[in-house]
Amino acid sequence: MKKASILIIYTGGTIGMRRNENGTLVPFDFNTIEQEFPAVRNLNVDISVYKMEAIDSSNVTPARWGELAHVIADNYTEYDGFVVLHGTDTMSYTASALSFMLENLAKPVIFTGSQIPMGILRTDGRENLITAIEIASATDSDGRALVPEVALYFQNHLFRANRTSKHSAEALSAFESRNLAPLAEVGVNIKYDHKVIHKPASYDAPLRVSDKLNDKVVIIKLFPGLSKESFKAMLSIEGVQGVVLETYGTGNAPTAEWFIEALRGAIARGITIVNITQCQGGTVAMHLYETGKRLQEIGVICGYDMTTEAAVTKLMRLLGEGLSGAVLAAKMEQPICGELTI
Ligand code: ASP
Repeated sequence: MKKASILIIYTGGTIGMRRNENGTLVPFDFNTIEQEFPAVRNLNVDISVYKMEAIDSSNVTPARWGELAHVIADNYTEYDGFVVLHGTDTMSYTASALSFMLENLAKPVIFTGSQIPMGILRTDGRENLITAIEIASATDSDGRALVPEVALYFQNHLFRANRTSKHSAEALSAFESRNLAPLAEVGVNIKYDHKVIHKPASYDAPLRVSDKLNDKVVIIKLFPGLSKESFKAMLSIEGVQGVVLETYGTGNAPTAEWFIEALRGAIARGITIVNITQCQGGTVAMHLYETGKRLQEIGVICGYDMTTEAAVTKLMRLLGEGLSGAVLAAKMEQPICGELTI
């Protein structure tokens, strides 16, 4: 059987660090990966490495997402799967953005990283990397990728990337997907949940990169005490076209007249407002309480159970396509690649 070929794309982050002779943490040379980890040879996979400029993921930008999407597109026909090594801090944002940018994706794009640098004995990076490679190269009996979507592998769990959030700065299981079951659980064996894994409409359609992202988007998190002045000022930031409004519980917000009027005014100026819950799990259901119903009545869009990471990157991508008004609202409320449950 032909060996799978996997492209590892290194973008930076903790996983790429090792100690030099002086004990200082320095970037690791992934080109020598097979010497460093002879275990990868046992995977029976051909591995190539593409190094982007290594950055701490706190410095990631939408332009960088475009660059990464094009690296995948340029190498798409040559490889069976992709493993993206990324800093954990913004991994869910990048991976969510990529899920919306890579249209007709029919091959695995598996994000991973680590909480402890690769060069430290107790690193979680080694297992994350090796299992991510194994998942990216796994095929069914017809030779088709088992996970043909953008996913995130971390500490024994494979998640749909656009369902994840980094929930712990400390735990090795740093990511969660509260609203969707894992695509796979890893123990002695890798147990895939084929019902949850997204299958492409066609395996032959050419990959298309939608790299026009509009960054005229802000996230506003509600809290008791948010003043009228601050809220109105945020909604009046010059050029803003989209707002992810992090509300309470099932999508609830104050019913004070000044609050509703500020939102109504923003919507009248053409700003798209998406209601996302600031709870870690569960869904927005604006009809349940009066405090949510008011938002629905004035035209706030329901974000259902999307993460903030998915909502903000999806909004950037749809605004980037030039969509607005009812068409944009309808697309925000429908899943593009499994990011929400209606
Ligand atoms: N600050 C690092 C980053 O996100 C943390 C990590 O890689 O885990 O790039």
